[in-house]
Amino acid sequence: MPEDRKMPNDALRLFFLAIEEVMGKDGMRAALHGAKLDKYIDNYPPKNLELGVSMSEYGLAEQAVEDFYGARGARAMLLRVGRALFNYGMKEQSTVLGLAGQALKLMPVPMTAKMKLLLEQMAAAGNKTVNQPVTLEEDADAFYLVYSVCMCQYRPKHQNPCCYITVGILMEGMKWLTDKNFAVQEVTCANLGAESCRFKIPKTPE
Ligand SMILES: [Zn+2]
Repeated sequence: MPEDRKMPNDALRLFFLAIEEVMGKDGMRAALHGAKLDKYIDNYPPKNLELGVSMSEYGLAEQAVEDFYGARGARAMLLRVGRALFNYGMKEQSTVLGLAGQALKLMPVPMTAKMKLLLEQMAAAGNKTVNQPVTLEEDADAFYLVYSVCMCQYRPKHQNPCCYITVGILMEGMKWLTDKNFAVQEVTCANLGAESCRFKIPKTPE
């Protein structure tokens, strides 16, 4: 396991709000207790960008949601949490997600150009705000967000890529931006020993 890494309070706060939206208040309390994060029960991190929380805490909370629903049911729930997280970030214009909001959505440029702009903002937010190094790559068919450090590195080993929160965030982000559904996939995952978590965002909708 890599050395723990700090992240901004607002990143964990938004994540907790999103979990609470999907699991309810009681479910959230149970998840935090299960993650041994009792100190956050009814006491979420403050809404600011100070590096006051850690990636391992985010990873533990994500794992607790997965454990709560079981390996089979967890995927759909984690995707929902990721989608809720995007929507909270958007509603609050949180710099954690690097969102420019309506201005970007209404820009008169082709769809893939808009997608690239949003993904560039999300990558910049990772690098500048979240303390999570990330690069954006592109080929003819898809964009790729590549995270060399990820919260999944602080979770138990999985059989399959497990960063469904990020997949959900990206699915919802693209949906919000284009009104279309994109089959976002995590193609390599650091939890399984890969060098990075690599998310593929196809340029063509489903
Ligand atoms: Zn990951």
